[in-house]
Amino acid sequence: MIVDRLGRRFKNLRVSLTAACNFACSYCVPDGKRLMKAQHELPATDLLKAVTLLQQAAGIDKIRITGGEPLVTPKFDEFLLGVMQLPLNDVSLTTNGQLLPKKHDVIVESGIKRINVSLDTLDNTRFKNICRGGDLDVVLGGIERILDAGIAVKINMVPLRSQNADEIVTMLDYCMERGIELRFIELMRMGHLLNGQGFQQDFLSMESLLDAIGEKYEFARTDAPYDSTAVRFEIPNKGIFGIIANESEPFCRSCTRLRLSSDGDLYGCLSSSRKQSMSDLLDLPTHLALPKLQKMLLGALADKKLAFQGEVTVMKFIGG
Ligand code: SAM
Ligand code: SF4
Repeated sequence: MIVDRLGRRFKNLRVSLTAACNFACSYCVPDGKRLMKAQHELPATDLLKAVTLLQQAAGIDKIRITGGEPLVTPKFDEFLLGVMQLPLNDVSLTTNGQLLPKKHDVIVESGIKRINVSLDTLDNTRFKNICRGGDLDVVLGGIERILDAGIAVKINMVPLRSQNADEIVTMLDYCMERGIELRFIELMRMGHLLNGQGFQQDFLSMESLLDAIGEKYEFARTDAPYDSTAVRFEIPNKGIFGIIANESEPFCRSCTRLRLSSDGDLYGCLSSSRKQSMSDLLDLPTHLALPKLQKMLLGALADKKLAFQGEVTVMKFIGG
């Protein structure tokens, strides 16, 4: 087991199936750009092999399938069905929800138990302004069908001062009525937000979110697991919400995440652009691949920071 001096080890793996996306959210993609797939994206079989090696070398027991937008790539079905066969404690998926209706059957068939859908607004015009793609009603319809199938849903909302700040409570009510846990993600200084004005203009802190919620509800902080990225709160008899407070309450000191990009690169930290390629390991026999991978994992663990510093690498490459 590889552990650092803070007791951090890799347990959770985020796999970006593709860097491509059918949306171009304003906080993820610079104006006028579209996310395209990476030059040498790996097929599902290679990504599954990489996951198996990481399980053996690092003791990974949780996987989140992400992107880019994981539902846009044809390899989604094969990867999902394959990963569900592996001996893991937990498999989850993060999606913008646009293709949930199209992928509904394979998602249900796979046996996956939980999905995170990113949704920042319930207003059509704002949806178009923030996501710059897709259709709000399709996303909402997709969520209802997933809930009807008995799959747990969490919603990720990025609160933005200039866009959806007045929807904090509306979104919370929408979620609590449906038994959905809402997760506010504090805006992160990633990609084009690292050095521009946009971050300062739009950032809303955990404190301001709690102030807005406090105007309508009483809530209390609840215990979150050691390596949870979210600070969680309970509104008695109503539901639970979380805040991923990168800025207000960084969770780096207990982070157990490792990221695998769609082209086979390993990243130890969202706040570091250093990457190591697993591609060459995939053709080796396991007994030769594992020692090389152990060495890479030591390097990836050493990349972890003590506090989130922002990073010019965009989320789509390394999976949000
Ligand atoms: N396309 C999928 C989606 O949007 O759910 C998965 C990938 S996306 C990069 C994963 C998560 O990262 C989304 O919930 C998105 O809102 C979040 N995200 C992207 N850029 C962000 C930023 N600059 N700050 C905070 N969250 C961000
Ligand atoms: Fe696409 Fe997700 Fe980035 Fe939005 S946040 S542009 S849906 S990858």
